Amino acid sequence: MHKDIATPIRTKEILQKYGFSFKKSLGQNFLIDPNILRNIVSHAQLTENSGAIEIGPGIGALTEHLARAAKKVVSFEIDQRLLPVLEDTLSPYDNVSIVHSDILKADVAEVIANEMPGVQDIMVVANLPYYVTTPILLKLLHDQLPIRGFVVMMQKEVADRITAKPGTKEYGSLSIAIQYYVSAEVAMMVPKTVFMPQPNVESAVIRLIKHAAPPVTVIDEEFLFEVTRASFVQRRKTILNNLQAGLPNGKQKKEAILAALAQCEIDPTRRGETLTIQEFGKLADALYPNFA
Ligand code: SAM
Repeated sequence: MHKDIATPIRTKEILQKYGFSFKKSLGQNFLIDPNILRNIVSHAQLTENSGAIEIGPGIGALTEHLARAAKKVVSFEIDQRLLPVLEDTLSPYDNVSIVHSDILKADVAEVIANEMPGVQDIMVVANLPYYVTTPILLKLLHDQLPIRGFVVMMQKEVADRITAKPGTKEYGSLSIAIQYYVSAEVAMMVPKTVFMPQPNVESAVIRLIKHAAPPVTVIDEEFLFEVTRASFVQRRKTILNNLQAGLPNGKQKKEAILAALAQCEIDPTRRGETLTIQEFGKLADALYPNFA
């Protein structure tokens, strides 16, 4: 086994060798603790037949742990300065491909087809750049990739919103936008001390596993998300008031909204945060003929 990249000493050596300076704008906080990396990878439950997709390998700290656990690793890195570093640090591993690309612009399905032919079990595993956590997750979910799920590090506050259950103050349209596709749980909390440089925010790793079928079947998924977004615009307002304010011509269509709520047996004085994803699904379908 090769010496770990993710120790404070080795990381400093690598950064010095390449004269690398962190770019805050790219969310560059590298992991320097092999125990955390082993833990992250264990939550992904990879086998020697699995594939791993990584976003932002940095200098390869997590990448090498993935390379040891999986059959094939493909890592997307936006920062060109890291390419020669990765070529050096990951030279002991012949099962890693680095794609120089902004993950938000990449055709990930095509990369999987080309780089992981025949691989049945694929997980996205990453210490995400925090400034784009939500767009990355939503893109990868909407792309409908042939993956089992995600084990990803992010800002704790976002992790709490993504995994929140109805009736909690963290529960909102983001919880629903994600939990429509996957089951979501916090896998572990991560202290600031395991990063270089240390981030200003708390961090957590979450595990998302794709549903075999969505928790609710709706006429139009986009409209479901429009209804949930409208329902949470002002958290202290009732669902009726939020839908009137947030749906197109909602003010003039109060009767239609009341009828849809009645049809779904949802009290118009309830708040959005009390509705389950199934209730939102029913409500979206009941509103659909009048609004979509
Ligand atoms: N995986 C490394 C680790 O844990 O030490 C680095 C993680 S660091 C939090 C985030 C990484 O994502 C950086 O390497 C950064 O350059 C890269 N990155 C930032 N925005 C990106 C984007 N849009 N697409 C791909 N990579 C990105």
